Amino acid sequence: MRIPALFSRGEPVFSFEFFQPKNPEDLAAFQATVRKLKDLSPAFVTITYGAAGTAREGTFETAAWIKREAGIETAAHLTCISHTRSEIERIVESFRRLGIENVVALRGDHPKEGPLLPPERRELPYAADLVRFIRARGDFSIAVAGYPEKHPEAPSMEEDLRRLQEKVEAGAEWVITQLFFDNAHYLDFVARARALGVRVPIVPGIMPITSYAQTRKFTQMCGTAIPERILADLAPIAADREKVVAYGIDYAFRQCRELLDRGAPGIHFYTLNRSHSTTAILSRLRDSC
Ligand SMILES: Cc1cc2nc3c(=O)[nH]c(=O)nc-3n(C[C@H](O)[C@H](O)[C@H](O)COP(=O)(O)OP(=O)(O)OC[C@H]3O[C@@H](n4cnc5c(N)ncnc54)[C@H](O)[C@@H]3O)c2cc1C
Repeated sequence: MRIPALFSRGEPVFSFEFFQPKNPEDLAAFQATVRKLKDLSPAFVTITYGAAGTAREGTFETAAWIKREAGIETAAHLTCISHTRSEIERIVESFRRLGIENVVALRGDHPKEGPLLPPERRELPYAADLVRFIRARGDFSIAVAGYPEKHPEAPSMEEDLRRLQEKVEAGAEWVITQLFFDNAHYLDFVARARALGVRVPIVPGIMPITSYAQTRKFTQMCGTAIPERILADLAPIAADREKVVAYGIDYAFRQCRELLDRGAPGIHFYTLNRSHSTTAILSRLRDSC
């Protein structure tokens, strides 16, 4: 099934992001989490491609497994910065073989280890190039990333929004945003994208806070600000994991409720391969509909 069709049904589209476990011995636990989250009937799931140092090997097979065995529509993430055109060609061919119809097309981050290809030798330097490349090779549905607080490398929000527009003009049919904690960023981002003529669904990406230290690490990595009020709320409970998790659920629930009330087409949960917080938030959201 092509995922964009889900957005025209007039109901919020809830989706989950997973990553391929790095160690093969963790695969069974991962599959158990997927089965647990399946009970929440997500509209679709996505599976990352080597994000934050996680595994690449087996990612597409796992995407195909989720689709086939768990019966959930799945989009495979793919990054282009460190692949040649012929490598991407082979990957796209494998999508066809595995029955993957939906792709989240990304540039990827500059590799921290190993030689960094100089820009003039990168064959597909930006996500828009990957979108065009995939679009020219078959009938895939393509999503791209959007940054409510600007991509860290972009010189300005205007420039970054123009890059988003390019990705959509190249053939992307929906956008998933980077995580954020302040809805004002998302609402402003959507308004500015619409003013530029970007009409496709822009789905907010939400990461429930489950750990003070991990939240700080992730937000630093992706250039997301943590509002002062969250830091102040977390400071006295930071060492108490249960309280932090409960706080994260409550915060994300209120954040998602407001986003849906203000027109977001759905919520994409960064599950971090855990089921507890996403289950609690989504159950509360559905009860509040
Ligand atoms: C929803 C989501 C999912 C993700 N999944 C993964 C994953 O699975 N694996 C992974 O490794 N990473 C993942 N990432 C991280 C992503 O790869 C990084 O944020 C990366 O740095 C940028 O990727 P992009 O696709 O947004 O790049 P692009 O859209 O190509 O933009 C990258 C930067 O280049 C600028 N730019 C774009 N085009 C041009 C141009 N023609 N000239 C000059 N500048 C330009 C943009 O403004 C931006 O600053 C994900 C991010 C998000 C939000």
